[in-house]
Amino acid sequence: MKPLPESICHILAYHEILKDSSLLSGFQSKSADTYKVSLEAFREQLDAITNLTNSAPVILNPSTAEGWALTFDDGGISNYDVILPELEDRGWKAHFFIVTSCIGSPGFMSADQTRELHRLGHSVGSHSVTHPAGMRKMPAKKILKEWQDSKNRLEDILGESVTSAAVPFGSVDSASLNTLASTGYRTIFTSDPVSYPKNIKDATVWGRYTVTSKTSARKVAKRAAGKPGTFAGERLYFHLKQTVRSFTK
Ligand SMILES: [Zn+2]
Repeated sequence: MKPLPESICHILAYHEILKDSSLLSGFQSKSADTYKVSLEAFREQLDAITNLTNSAPVILNPSTAEGWALTFDDGGISNYDVILPELEDRGWKAHFFIVTSCIGSPGFMSADQTRELHRLGHSVGSHSVTHPAGMRKMPAKKILKEWQDSKNRLEDILGESVTSAAVPFGSVDSASLNTLASTGYRTIFTSDPVSYPKNIKDATVWGRYTVTSKTSARKVAKRAAGKPGTFAGERLYFHLKQTVRSFTK
């Protein structure tokens, strides 16, 4: 196993950014709606991060990971219509994770739009084929298929190797992460609210801080800047969940 990178990175996990709450982008459900952030709030958050860090987000790869980063899950149409222009205006790059069975469906990006993100220098990775809930409990064969098939589809679209992935609903345990790391992905993102990476096989696994419609600009900026104590409630909940799992397995 290779040594852990010494650096830390504060990674924010977003989903849809909406100009207008009536616009349909990404998955449509009450729980999905809690992760949809208004464009006004998003701009306020990016400005707050700029004021506090005076730095641009990084694109993580196996050799570079320091500072803060922006990630967007699911591949909703707002990724192209709303988020892309905001990032381009600032000259910033981000990670986008695509649910490949949704490509071209209503509310999601087309193959051409996905290719355009990649062409502009953003990182495009997999968010599985079907976005299953509770992936860590699925049979290894099914987990493998989700990651291999989505990788193949994205590589066909982009004409380039795809080496990053984000796990749907952050549903991971060490066995399911091992399965994912065996499919050729090198940079893997979970939803564990931590800033330090761990290595599994040849992959580096990073936690992320999920931003919801209720997260304040101040909190997002403090997290991007690595201020201690930010997202402490989320961390506590995460550790409690881990403890409960260790007793119920
Ligand atoms: Zn998702």
